[in-house]
Parts: sequence; structure tokens; C-alpha cells
Amino acid sequence: MARTAIISDIHSNLHALSAVMEDAWAMKCTDVVCLGDIVGYNAYPRECLDYIRELNCPVVKGNHDEEVVSPSLIRMNPVARQAMDWTREQLDEDRLNWLGRLQYRRFVKPDYGMSYSIVHASLDQPKAWNYIFNDRDSSTHFKQQTTQLCFHGHSHSPRIFYHGGGFIGENTDLLSELEAEGYAEFQPHPELKYLINVGSVGQPRDADPRACYVIYDTELSLIIFKRVSYNIEEAQHAVRAAGLPDYLAERLARGC
Ligand code: ZN
Repeated sequence: MARTAIISDIHSNLHALSAVMEDAWAMKCTDVVCLGDIVGYNAYPRECLDYIRELNCPVVKGNHDEEVVSPSLIRMNPVARQAMDWTREQLDEDRLNWLGRLQYRRFVKPDYGMSYSIVHASLDQPKAWNYIFNDRDSSTHFKQQTTQLCFHGHSHSPRIFYHGGGFIGENTDLLSELEAEGYAEFQPHPELKYLINVGSVGQPRDADPRACYVIYDTELSLIIFKRVSYNIEEAQHAVRAAGLPDYLAERLARGC
């Protein structure tokens, strides 16, 4: 058994992170990979950062991780900005330095199977934080993908793009299954490249409020998407108690 839990966009939601990790250990995951945006939006930036840091696992930097360390004028709505300023106050220098040192893209070599790529947004311009919403967006990314598999996050929606023989497509059937069953698995075709969005742990935006993550079984060459229910009311309560914008609490229940 060689199972890695691949998680992204935790966004300081400790309730969701705890539920996902409990599920991952129960699913016999032995390793974790984190695709960034550990902080931002919700009420537990310190706790989520410390949890991931203690795992000592491969992590790449997300746009919120970058923004909290080096404030810029990049596009960010006022609500996200307010949460960002609050988040910065919660993190000491040591934690900010740890976030600042994260790389934008990495290769991960599992004990079994081939290396794969990880990035928060896209491999072609990882610091530009481009969103990949459709085939056209993914085509520039695929030009830079040298591994068969690349896992990413950023849009907070689970998706599977594939590329091969001059053809780019998206597997949407699997995601309907995920929505209905809370579980969906597939085996990558050896002749295709895949860009896999693992969804968001702490702020899903695909109208399903359950936390989302992926398990990659490198021995069986199997990719499993999972949805995990968690205590949304408690996470909302924590957001409000921290004085963060009410909208950030509300959206957790709507999954948007
Ligand atoms: Zn994010």
C-alpha cells in the first residue's frame, strides 16, 4: 500500500482539515502532499500551518500564502483582503518565514511509481496564479508538464483535464459520480497526461460544501476523489467569533 493524501486550499479551516486527515488516515494514507493556500479566509491560520508544517511533507506555495508574507496589489476582493490582513496579525515571524520559503512548483517522487508534478495554480506561469477553468486554459499549462500527472488546486473545484495525441479534454463523468457518492476513482491511461484539481479542503466552490481531497495510490496507479463531511456550523462560529466578514461564514454552508 502506498497511498498519498493530496490536499489543497485548506484556508485556515481547521475543522475541515481535521476531518479530511482523519478520513485520509482511515483510508490508509501514509503520506501527505499539500498544494498551498494553507491560510486565508477562515479562523485558524496558525493551527493549520503548524499541522502541515509538522507533517514535514512536500508543500507548494499558494497565492494566499504569498500575499500574507509579501502584501502586493494583486487582484483580491475586499473580503479576502480583510481576512488576509487579519491572518497576517495571527502569524509570527517564524511562521511567515516558513510560508515565504515555500516553492512554487515541485516534483514528488513516491516510494512506488513515477514522479509527478505539484503546483498551486499552473505550471506555465506559477507566479501569475492563472485559473484553469477549461480546455483552452489548460493547453498552455500542458506545454510545461513533463510528468504524466500534475496535481493542482486554486479554483477550489475538483476537475480532471487530460491531454494526448494533440487532443485536450475533461473527464466530467467522474465528477458527477463524486457529487452523488462522495467517492470516485479512476486509473490514468498510460498514454495520456493529466492535470488533476484536487478540490478544496477548507472552502469548496463547486456547490458541494463537503471538504474535498484526492488519494493517489501509486502502487495500484489509482486516483481517488473523496468528499468529507465536517462540522460546518463550528467552522462558521469560529469565523464570526474571530470578527471576520460574515460572508466567509455563510459561503462555507453553500459551498461557493
Ligand atoms: Zn485558494
